[in-house]
Amino acid sequence: MVFSSLLPPIDIPSTNVVDFVFGECERHTPTVEYPVFVDSASGTSIGLSDLRSQTLRLASGLQRICSIGTGDVVAIFAANSIIYPIAAYAIVAAGATCTPANPTYTAQELAHQLSNSRCKAVIVGDGLRETAVQALKIANHPVEHILLMDESRAGASGTIFDIMDAETPEDFFSKQAAEPDIDYARLPAYLCYSSGTTGKPKGVVLTHRNMVANALQINGVKKLDAPRTHARDTFLGLAPFCHAYGLSYVLHSSVSLGGTVVVMAKYSFESFLAVIQRYKVTYGYLVPPIVCALSKDARVDKYDLSTMTTVLSGGAALSPTLIEAMEQRLPGIKVVQGYGMTEMSPAVTMLATVHSNPASIGMLMPGCDAMVIDDEGNELPENTPGELCFRGPNIMACYLNNAEATRDIIDARGFLHTGDIGFIDSQGFFYITDRKKELIKYKGFQVAPSELEGLLAEHPDVEDAAVMAVYDDSQATEIPKAYMVLKGRKCNDNDDNQARGQAIVDWLHERVARYKRLRGGFAIIDHIPRSPAGKIIRNSIRNIEHVSSSSS
Ligand code: AMP
Repeated sequence: MVFSSLLPPIDIPSTNVVDFVFGECERHTPTVEYPVFVDSASGTSIGLSDLRSQTLRLASGLQRICSIGTGDVVAIFAANSIIYPIAAYAIVAAGATCTPANPTYTAQELAHQLSNSRCKAVIVGDGLRETAVQALKIANHPVEHILLMDESRAGASGTIFDIMDAETPEDFFSKQAAEPDIDYARLPAYLCYSSGTTGKPKGVVLTHRNMVANALQINGVKKLDAPRTHARDTFLGLAPFCHAYGLSYVLHSSVSLGGTVVVMAKYSFESFLAVIQRYKVTYGYLVPPIVCALSKDARVDKYDLSTMTTVLSGGAALSPTLIEAMEQRLPGIKVVQGYGMTEMSPAVTMLATVHSNPASIGMLMPGCDAMVIDDEGNELPENTPGELCFRGPNIMACYLNNAEATRDIIDARGFLHTGDIGFIDSQGFFYITDRKKELIKYKGFQVAPSELEGLLAEHPDVEDAAVMAVYDDSQATEIPKAYMVLKGRKCNDNDDNQARGQAIVDWLHERVARYKRLRGGFAIIDHIPRSPAGKIIRNSIRNIEHVSSSSS
């Protein structure tokens, strides 16, 4: 059975997503000086007029000075800042593709994205140049331009400011006018990296049409919230801009609604609370561990959070008990969930605050169809759990240069098979009950077991390894745990195993971003159960864990 969205359909204009965002922002914002982005630490802000002018000057400079244009890829390797959107919008406005990389990546991790995306230039944030240079060396992928985006370097050569200063917005418009008709349904805007349902991170090609559609879809659901939301919300820009969550919800949807985004570069719970109070934030895009902290951390009582009306939690599962606990503690705030996947730009279901249904991940986005299937691919009726599959204008074009992986996830009818298990009820609300795919979500960040397993297998002491999720109730997040078979030793040699296991874990931690660390610890086991085809039989692993286990 195919279920169609119950929300009014959307009309998706064929346009560059940056034109769409700026156009909508202009329509909704009271004046072009009204702050669009505010830096939470310094209070510095940028209004639409400056934002647009700087974006277009940088876009023009990228085209003229760096010879970047349609079909080229430019990476951004930086933490959130108010300059980040200028860089991202400029790349995309120039017709090129922006590939945002996680700023906590090691050089080795970054190398994969830089070479796989074949990027032509890299824009780097404060203190990250060395890692980027090292990554390019590892990847053996020289680029002509490594541009700094650290504002303290404004005026210096080799920065985006240097390039911006050489241009005027008119330069950009005159070049744009010369562009032939562009097919925005095919032109990539972003190339985000995701492991999807299996394997290493792959380049997810998100077109302009995908991104315009998703912003309109999110805004379509937000419209149902109208009785609650402020005329102009002050949104929290904490979700990482390197993730589709930050791009679509924050840089596109929120800005297109004419709101102000208060950008946080770094997170600590206390600074998060202080920012809400100081900037009178009304709407927060959060992940479940922060909802968990809001529901029980004593520090919440020290701050005035009374301006906040809405929290959208996404990126990972959030229990209704936690939602209820938070709403009880902070009765002025309504918590709703959004669900999606990088491959869906990312949002595909979202709850509106007018719906009172804390167990649900929301309703299907406008313009989308859904299907729930069993293991044999048969379509299931309402209220019957199975794999959730979706199609619609926000479904990615493909995985970059990987037709096989694309075919594995998008079927011939255009349905993307999510690897998530859930169901839809008779009123059109969706629920997640389980996950079929291997992915681990640590505080909303993807940890691909196969990536850690591959690295562990490179260690000389490791015979075989599997990595699985353990749920940490205290933080409301999954954490990865390794199961390892050591070379040349029986697993009954406790103390020695413990020390060797810890040394392997320390070795691994030097090679991965912090969010991928084995916070669930490790266990030394006799063998990793595998199918005849060599696939790890994950369900059997916990049963055979029998010797040493430790938290790191
Ligand atoms: P990503 O591509 O990093 O956005 O990760 C997508 C995956 O995160 C989904 O396939 C789900 O497994 C998980 N996920 C995202 N949002 C939710 C949610 N609201 N509830 C449960 N799981 C979620």
